[in-house]
Amino acid sequence: MNLLVVGSIGFDTVETPHGKSEKALGGTAVYCSVAASYFTKVGMVAAVGTDFPEQHTEFLRQKGIDLTGLMTLPGETFHWGGRYHPDMNGRDTLFTHLNVFQDFKPTLPKSYCSAPLVFLGNIHPQLQLHVLEQVQAPKLVALDTMNYWIEGTPDLLKEVLKKVDILFVNDEEARQLAGEMNLLRAARKIWSMGPRIIVIKKGEHGALLFYEGDIFFAPAYPLENVVDPTGAGDTFAGGFMGYLATSQNFDHNHLRCAMIYGSTLASFAVEDFSIEKLRTLQERDIFERFAAFQRLTQFSRE
Ligand code: AMP
Repeated sequence: MNLLVVGSIGFDTVETPHGKSEKALGGTAVYCSVAASYFTKVGMVAAVGTDFPEQHTEFLRQKGIDLTGLMTLPGETFHWGGRYHPDMNGRDTLFTHLNVFQDFKPTLPKSYCSAPLVFLGNIHPQLQLHVLEQVQAPKLVALDTMNYWIEGTPDLLKEVLKKVDILFVNDEEARQLAGEMNLLRAARKIWSMGPRIIVIKKGEHGALLFYEGDIFFAPAYPLENVVDPTGAGDTFAGGFMGYLATSQNFDHNHLRCAMIYGSTLASFAVEDFSIEKLRTLQERDIFERFAAFQRLTQFSRE
């Protein structure tokens, strides 16, 4: 197994201007693992309740995801509800029922402890630390977080940040974490907190990569129909980490390619509710859109 992913798995009930999706498969670990499964062997660490349908587990298995670290605990599965604003850039969380996820404290299966790449999804920093402590000498560790943890558990979050290589955040979170409005200055401050690679996501306005004084910009793919942006960030991280897991090279050029693979996978995820679009997505679709990204940003002076 090349990439260990820890995060939430459960049900999402989502309303967007395009309609409503009720209790569909969601969670940070799901989006990330499914996206990464196109590139590499993924092992998932997460917990579901006894009400979790076998068809969802079977889908993840069919994607080749190692589910040894997926625990079924007594109780109900995590359930999140959100409603998007008309422009779909913002959303309101309607409810978060953590359920079995509340007291989740996993012991990693032995086969996961040697994972070379680790993605710590947006969960309690204490849980992120707990997972990380069990992995022996990973080559690359990435972390995703959100305003809830930046405000609520800043000291714990800073402790985890010291131990990670990559931070995925959106622009608002980067500003909040650094206490700095300007994103370049914010990135410089975050570098001093630990992560040497910073990815700042800006939704439909693309994503920025900050690495060793270098800045790279990946646009978001222009789409006529964005149906449901849920999980776009985790799907981005899955494409990014999945690609790096296969390349095993983390230099500037590979990080830039990872940004485009992340953007590519995220562009598919938002075209339908839940992970629907990723059910039927083929490798050739990914390579075609990757090529379209190259054309999108290529120009010559002549
Ligand atoms: P994103 O759109 O990238 O913020 O990711 C959305 C996913 O995060 C959804 O599938 C939710 O189930 C999941 N999610 C929302 N809130 C939480 C939370 N507090 N802890 C863990 N996962 C969450």
